[in-house]
Amino acid sequence: MINLVIFGPPGAGKGTQSEKLIQKYGFVHISTGDLFRWHTKNDTPLGKRVKEIMNSGALVPDDITIAMLKEELDKNPQAKGFLFDGFPRTVAQAEALDRFMKENNTAIHYVLALDVSEKEVRDRIAKRRTIENRADDEEDKLNKRITEYFTKTIHVLPYYEKAGRLNTVNGIGPIDEIFSRITAVIK
Ligand code: ADP
Repeated sequence: MINLVIFGPPGAGKGTQSEKLIQKYGFVHISTGDLFRWHTKNDTPLGKRVKEIMNSGALVPDDITIAMLKEELDKNPQAKGFLFDGFPRTVAQAEALDRFMKENNTAIHYVLALDVSEKEVRDRIAKRRTIENRADDEEDKLNKRITEYFTKTIHVLPYYEKAGRLNTVNGIGPIDEIFSRITAVIK
């Protein structure tokens, strides 16, 4: 069983690379952003709680996020491996994830951090906004999300670096080339 975290700022290409990783390795994909969007779209009690927070571009509180993540893990006892996308975003989340993995006698084996500059990320999201029209990609929210990444989420990297699990991958270039850099790490 291999468990992997894909990490990077909004617009780094986590979603694109995740799809390719799932195809190749058959991971169960856990994207907390997708899960929160599903809940808000379906107006579930959880969706009602997080809607405004998400729309502001802020992080959802750890207790809510961690509980949702745990529920998803419990739904997939047969998984051969998990790909975590958009989680962990705080050190408390990273610690919880390690705890959950340990409880199942497994671990996070690789953390793949897509290295993309703030300027590149802003250019990409501006483009994506016009194509996908994602509600949380509006300008002020985008600024907030990028700020959340560079002020809060970035602190997760030293946590994994200390444990020798951090692999930084250049996230600039053609999609397939970036994917090759990622698979080279996994092998
Ligand atoms: P991005 O496109 O910025 O990578 P995601 O699709 O992963 O964003 O997440 C969208 C929103 O969902 C975030 O801005 C945040 O409000 C919420 N969210 C997703 N994952 C987490 C998390 N691990 N912790 C807190 N909030 C989260």
